[in-house]
Amino acid sequence: MKTVGEQEPAGKHPPESEEFGAAMSSIRKRRLFLWGVILIYLPAMWAVLQWTGSYNKTAVAFIIWVLLLTVIATVGALARCPGCGNYFHMNGMTLLYLRRCLHCGLHVNADRKLIKK
Ligand SMILES: [Zn+2]
Repeated sequence: MKTVGEQEPAGKHPPESEEFGAAMSSIRKRRLFLWGVILIYLPAMWAVLQWTGSYNKTAVAFIIWVLLLTVIATVGALARCPGCGNYFHMNGMTLLYLRRCLHCGLHVNADRKLIKK
C-alpha cells in the first residue's frame, strides 16, 4: 500500500481528453474569481464607506474581503495542472498566479489550441 507521498500526481490527463479541457476551464475560472475579488476591493470599500459612513463598519467589510481573498487564493492555489498533475500555480513554497504551469509550462489556454506549449 502506497502512502500519500508515493502516489502519482493526481489529475494528469492527455490533452485530447475531456477532463483536460474541464481542468483547464476550472483553472481559468479560479483565476477569474481571484482577479475579480482583487479588482472589487477599491469600489467595494468606497461603497461601504459611502453607505455606512463608518470606518468601523468599513473595517468589518475589509476583514470579510480579506477572508474572501484568502479562500479564493487558496482554491486557486490548489488547482491541478491537467498536463503534469502538479499544482498549476504552486511550486514548493512559491505561489505565482502566472499564465503557465509552474512545473511543466502548460499555458492556461492550451486547450483552446491557440497557444502551443
Ligand atoms: Zn503542469
